[in-house]
Amino acid sequence: MAETMERVSGKQREREEFPSTGLAREVAPDLAYLRCKIVNVMFSGPSGAGDRGWVLIDTGLYGSAGKIAQAAEERFGAGARPRAIILTHGHFDHIGAVRELAESWDAVVYAHPLELPYLTGASKYPPPDPTVGGGAMARLSFTYPRGPIDLGSRVQPLPADGSVPGMPGWRWIHTPGHTAGHVSLFRDADRTLVAGDAFVTTRQEALTYVLEQTPEVNGPPMYYTPDWAASELSVQALAMLEPEIAVTGHGIPLSGPQLREELKTLALEFRDVAVPAHGRYVNNPAVTDERGIVSVPPPVVDRDKVYLAAGMAFGVGLLAAKVASVRRHRRAEAHPAPRAAYAAPRHADADAVAYVEVDDTDGFNLSRFDYYPSTETHRRRSLGGRREPLIL
Ligand SMILES: [Zn+2]
Ligand SMILES: [Zn+2]
Repeated sequence: MAETMERVSGKQREREEFPSTGLAREVAPDLAYLRCKIVNVMFSGPSGAGDRGWVLIDTGLYGSAGKIAQAAEERFGAGARPRAIILTHGHFDHIGAVRELAESWDAVVYAHPLELPYLTGASKYPPPDPTVGGGAMARLSFTYPRGPIDLGSRVQPLPADGSVPGMPGWRWIHTPGHTAGHVSLFRDADRTLVAGDAFVTTRQEALTYVLEQTPEVNGPPMYYTPDWAASELSVQALAMLEPEIAVTGHGIPLSGPQLREELKTLALEFRDVAVPAHGRYVNNPAVTDERGIVSVPPPVVDRDKVYLAAGMAFGVGLLAAKVASVRRHRRAEAHPAPRAAYAAPRHADADAVAYVEVDDTDGFNLSRFDYYPSTETHRRRSLGGRREPLIL
């Protein structure tokens, strides 16, 4: 019972532990985070830092630029541009607003050299594995955009000496696995960690956890992690840092003994708790290099997608048969001897999208989650309330 109480109090706990400074919440005097729907962006720099006095880490989903710019203005002052934008990695939920913000602020974007192919138009990411993880977020992952975007010369490699532009006292740590060029940021002085998706503090695969924001240390999102051996080593490296507080890409920040104990447990039991029991990348990683994908293991059969596609084909088939039957009858009325009519079931596009109800005041509020054929995407079925496509 006590555990149940704690499970639903994630947002309550967040309000108590991390004071709000406008839209963002503070984890340290010079570090704040802003939840943009399902993903966090971070602001490094003290309140009132002014023009070029701060750094943005990650940029949320597409459509987040306005909210991020507003939070930045509240925190750092009107017209205050960042010294740099740092990307932990280039997944679509971390780079959504990067182009718009970098251009409007005329800011340099930094990422690990092994992440650059996905940010300079050279390569897509290895495909996600929707068969692992077990939640709707995972099931829908085959629809997520996997790049690349092309930021051209606006994106630069992080300095080889481990320093982080605009963030003195911090160092970047290569934490591959979730992506090849994934980095975490660490400040030794107070053991503050920005972990990106190397591990996360919510169970990203399952919508109930994403909704409740129950804080607990979890491995990286399963459906989007193509190298588990590297990911395990990265989690071990981060656990050895014994961080005092960690802000991750998804979930509410965790601190103190709970963070350290859960992170150590994750590192020790990684194979059992973080790595899926089966799946495309469990035994063979995606192989990538500085130019992007080299090779990926073959896909495993996604029964849900097959059922979804089969169900849709069946439904469309039934409809077509019905239409054919009606036409046949009409023709039968017009012509005494009709030819046999046959309408092949035409397979509608099996891609699916999810619609979420968005509540910008407190992250998001997901009241309903449905599959729609992508042909419906542009029609935006009206379901009441303001809705946005989670996935475009
Ligand atoms: Zn990611
Ligand atoms: Zn993410």
